[in-house]
Amino acid sequence: MGRLSGKVALITGAARGQGAEEARLFASEGASVVLTDVLDDDGKQAATEIGSAATFHHHDVTSEAEWTSVVDAVLAEYGQLDVLVNNAGILAIAPLVLTTEAEYRRVIDVNQIGTFLGMKAVVPHMVERQQGSIINISSVAGLMGSPGMIAYGASKWAVRGMTKSVALEVAPFGVRVNSIHPGIIETPMLEEFEKWGVMGAVMERVPVGRTADAREVANLALYLASDESVYSTGSEFVVDGGMTAS
Ligand code: NAD
Repeated sequence: MGRLSGKVALITGAARGQGAEEARLFASEGASVVLTDVLDDDGKQAATEIGSAATFHHHDVTSEAEWTSVVDAVLAEYGQLDVLVNNAGILAIAPLVLTTEAEYRRVIDVNQIGTFLGMKAVVPHMVERQQGSIINISSVAGLMGSPGMIAYGASKWAVRGMTKSVALEVAPFGVRVNSIHPGIIETPMLEEFEKWGVMGAVMERVPVGRTADAREVANLALYLASDESVYSTGSEFVVDGGMTAS
């Protein structure tokens, strides 16, 4: 018996990086996993590599209509949805005065509105079943100030706050909502730091002196997806090599 046997998990932004790793780990623990992303080729490949436990759906998290059709498709296929990982996200690096309104809105749209729409799409079903675990991927940027990343920081602080608000709304109905706050994780997202030549400065803020593998975040997501974490809701779970300790 796997730690997620009998559960169905929907993971956004799962074509690569942390989302793909969570899909692999959840499937290996017995879950049926639904990977969604805007990167269709990578997403289909990730699902194919996992095998029959996985399916892929094209899904832009900023579209409420696409959320409705993805959740409808999952319920038609599996009849239930136990876990949602709101993982899709984008990073934009620029100081305040060089951040355009369009860029700011784009980051908020994906990271914040996408998470809002995701929770809204699945909560009625989870409340009806009196069970469910929603895992919102925030960041250490949702726990502290992040110079040069105003839009990203704003979106990740919002995710942290939204997590607590919804957790309080749905706790009486057996549904849990928690946030994960990763530090510096080896995924394609780090290319943005490298592009701006700030990777060295970023690493100076990591006490353990190394980046993390995506599996190190997926392990935490697995715990929150499973019934082992049944008494945890509205909480922040940090996996950051000590970044936020000081
Ligand atoms: P990544 O860039 O590899 O993965 C992000 C995924 O989100 C991509 O597959 C991308 O196509 C998808 N995506 C982007 N816009 C989308 C949209 N509109 N609809 C659907 N999917 C969309 O990076 P990652 O590190 O795996 O990021 C996963 C999450 O972790 C993100 O929310 C990110 O902000 C967060 N995070 C990452 C780090 C890090 O160091 N890598 C640190 C803290 C938090």
